[in-house]
Parts: sequence; structure tokens; C-alpha cells
Amino acid sequence: MVGAGVAGLVAGHRLAERGHACDVYERWPGLGGQAATLDVGQGHLLERYYHHLFTSDRHIADLYDELGMPDELEWRTSTVAFFADGRSWPFNGPLDLLRFRPLSIASRLRMGIAVVLLQRRHRDVRAFESETARDWVNRAMGSEAWERVWGPLLRGKFGGRATDISMAWLWSKLTVRRQIKGDEARQELLGYPRGSWETLYERLKESIESRGGRVMIDRPARSLSRRDGRFVVEPGAPDSFRTGHDPRRFAPAQPAEDYDAVIATVPSDIFAQLLDDDLAAAVGPDYLGRAASIEYHTALCLLLELDRQFTPFYWTNIADDELPFVGLIEHTNFIEPERYGGRRFLYVANYLEAGHELLSLSLDEVLDRYEPGLRKVNPGFSRDWIRERWLFREPAAQPIVTLGYRERMPPLQTGVPGLILANTTQIYPEDRGTNYSVRLGDQAVEALLTG
Ligand SMILES: Cc1cc2nc3c(=O)[nH]c(=O)nc-3n(C[C@H](O)[C@H](O)[C@H](O)COP(=O)(O)OP(=O)(O)OC[C@H]3O[C@@H](n4cnc5c(N)ncnc54)[C@H](O)[C@@H]3O)c2cc1C
Repeated sequence: MVGAGVAGLVAGHRLAERGHACDVYERWPGLGGQAATLDVGQGHLLERYYHHLFTSDRHIADLYDELGMPDELEWRTSTVAFFADGRSWPFNGPLDLLRFRPLSIASRLRMGIAVVLLQRRHRDVRAFESETARDWVNRAMGSEAWERVWGPLLRGKFGGRATDISMAWLWSKLTVRRQIKGDEARQELLGYPRGSWETLYERLKESIESRGGRVMIDRPARSLSRRDGRFVVEPGAPDSFRTGHDPRRFAPAQPAEDYDAVIATVPSDIFAQLLDDDLAAAVGPDYLGRAASIEYHTALCLLLELDRQFTPFYWTNIADDELPFVGLIEHTNFIEPERYGGRRFLYVANYLEAGHELLSLSLDEVLDRYEPGLRKVNPGFSRDWIRERWLFREPAAQPIVTLGYRERMPPLQTGVPGLILANTTQIYPEDRGTNYSVRLGDQAVEALLTG
């Protein structure tokens, strides 16, 4: 396995269950990939990027059960708001939509009806694969709904590509996650593990290691090649992660080891960079071209420890193009601060195109840019509230789902027997998430063993 994110660890666990010893190579000095945690001090672990689960996330919930950790997941009500027209509007259920004054009453009703009809009548994504989300919203909800709500939200997530995003992506957001009926009609329930996501990784690691495998952190793959019908993984030296993501820049380490098969769970660009010329030729330009055709946006995430509450909401969507970030996720409005010794944590979320100037700024410079926006949301905010801060950048955070995505998506089987690619670009039509990376890990093993 290349990559000890959720997909790589689950694939390793499944192979171990079937009696195969396997090694997992990981670039980062920790497990969990995009859902890795950091120690925020005093032994408290928190994800580098905000994480929660939806009640529809059955693959990961089943995995917790299967691993003997059924009580690890807790389900709690979440509070959501929209920041628009200079204030935060609660946005938890149908009544809040009716009170949402940035839209005219007619548009509010139309938007509510369109969502209900979509959820009740349209269970097949294929009807939405040849239309952009913008065109669908304009048609089904009206142009005001696009201009005031969906346009700013999609611009926040996809920048200049917002108008190209397939309706298939929005369909999955609106239909898969939460149904406006039953227990969740009034308020959404979200899940979070008692001991952060880390407990899951530890259990998967134990499973792999107890059956003769190894999970090796801070030990990246530097290159992949084939010799005498076996795959050779050349590792990179410790601390390679400090040089960035491109494995071709990692210093080599010893020994190179050979394997029957490789499941690569890294982003598609890294996969291509790992292959030596012969293996790249065997995979072929068609497959690599498909993989390369899917663009990613980078997550830029500022995590602040504050000495007080910032908003009353867990999740605030920023529907105001003048603010330089797209979301405020106040973790300790979801999980009580007492769990962290009374400390409070706020994530300031952003998704940006590769090369965006904000991505080259230092933590202090990012904070300088964000401060006026933070004050717009909470006018009392001052830097004195900040006790600690961290900044994280994830280049392959969000695959860009445009029209014709299904046809371009690379299959798990690369065409070279024994070589599987399993990454977030192959999660479709659902939006990527840890739940679907659990499913992807399962699928990767099936693809390998049946391929
Ligand atoms: C800002 C943000 C918020 C999110 N919020 C949520 C949420 O609320 N809920 C949710 O369920 N999901 C959320 N996600 C998505 C979720 O974290 C990912 O979809 C999931 O963790 C992906 O897992 P993966 O194993 O498929 O890929 P990754 O986690 O990307 O794993 C790939 C692994 O490969 C490693 N790697 C890279 N290069 C090499 C190399 N050369 N050698 C060895 N290893 C290498 C990487 O370090 C990484 O560990 C969020 C993601 C982001 C960025």
C-alpha cells in the first residue's frame, strides 16, 4: 500500500484479513492522510482539517462496529448558518429557509420545493450528469438562488470553476447526506469519534501488524518499478515530507523491497511521478491521461485556538464574495470544550486553485488577510483572543467534478495486473469523505484480487 490514509489502511486491513502480509508506506509522520490528527497539546488530538460524519456514512460506521468499537462514534446535533448581507442566518431546517431574508419569499419557497422534489423524485444521478449545477439551480430554483446562495457557495469551494461544476456533484450533496424527513428533518445529526479519528487508524494498524505486515510512517515511496514480474518500491529518506509532495525530490533510502502487488492510494499526480519509465509505459498514456485530466483544488485551513466562543454555530457557510475564506467551523460548538480541557477551536476554511497567491503566504500573512473578514462575522474579534494557531495546506483536497466526469474517471485497475490506483478522484458521484475512502479501500482489494 502506498499511503496510510483511510483508503490505504482499510485496504491493508482487508488484505491482512485474507491472509496477505502487506506493508504500508506513508510520507507523513502520522497516519490518516487528509484526516490525520495533530496533538494540540495536553494530549488532545484534533484533525488538521475539520471532520465529521453524516448519518448516511454507513461504510465507516459499519467498520467501527466490525472492529469492535461500536460506541466510539457519537451522534450530535449540528448547527449551521449562512453568512450573507452582513450577518449570520441560522440554516438548520425548512423553517430557517423560510426566515432567510437574503432571498425573496418566492425564491425561498422555490428553493425548498426544489430540494424536496430532488430528494423524493430523483434517485438516479445519471439524469444530472450532462448539466451544470448553475444551469440546474437557475432552472429549478431561480437566478436569485444562484446569485445569493449557490453561486457564492460553489465559488467558495471551486473558485473560477464554480460555473463548470456538474449537477451530479450538487445532486449528491443534496440527496445522499441528509433527508428532510424523519429524525433529521428539524436538525441534522453529525458523527464524531470519542477519541478523534486516530483510534480508527490505530486499530487498522494493529490489524495489519498482527498479521505480519508493517505500517511505516515517515517512510514514503520514492519510486515504483517492475523487476522480474514483481513490483519494486524504493523508499524515500526520513523527513522527505519536508521537501514537499513530489516523490522525485525525495532522497533515496534503503532497502528497496519487492512485492506481488501494489495499491497506490496517493493523488493521481503523485502516482504518475512515482512510476519509472517502463512502468509508466506499461500503464500507458490513455490511463495516465485520464488520471491527469482531473484537477484538484487545494485546501488552506487555518486552525485557531481561541480564548472564547467565536460564533454560536458549528458550521458557518460564507455566502459573501468579499470575505477571503469560505467557511468557519467552530469545532467546540459541536464537541464540548470540556473534552479539550476547556479549550476552544475554530477552523477557517478555504479551497483554492493551485498557484493561488494565498497559498504562498505565511501563517501570519494569512491571518492578516483574514482578520477583517473575521471581524465582519464577529465585530468584537481581536487577535488577543488567539492562544495558538496552525496552518495546513492539502494540494489534492477536492477533485473538480465537471461534466462528463464518469467517462474521464480512471478505473481502479490500471491495466497492469497487480497495480491498483485508488484515490479520491474515483469517488463518484458522492463527494469524497472518509466514509467513501473506507468503501474505496474495500473496492481496491476486490479489484486487485479479481483483476
Ligand atoms: C479540508 C478538508 C475537510 C474534510 N472534511 C471531511 C469531513 O468532514 N468528513 C469526512 O469524512 N471527510 C472529510 N474530508 C475528506 C477526507 O479527509 C478524505 O476524503 C479522506 O481522508 C481521503 O482518504 P484517502 O486515504 O482516500 O486519501 P488521503 O487521505 O489523501 O491519503 C493518501 C495518503 O498518501 C500519502 N502519500 C502521499 N505521497 C506519498 C508517497 N510518495 N509515499 C507514501 N505515501 C504517500 C499521503 O500522505 C496520505 O496519507 C475532508 C478533507 C479536507 C481536505
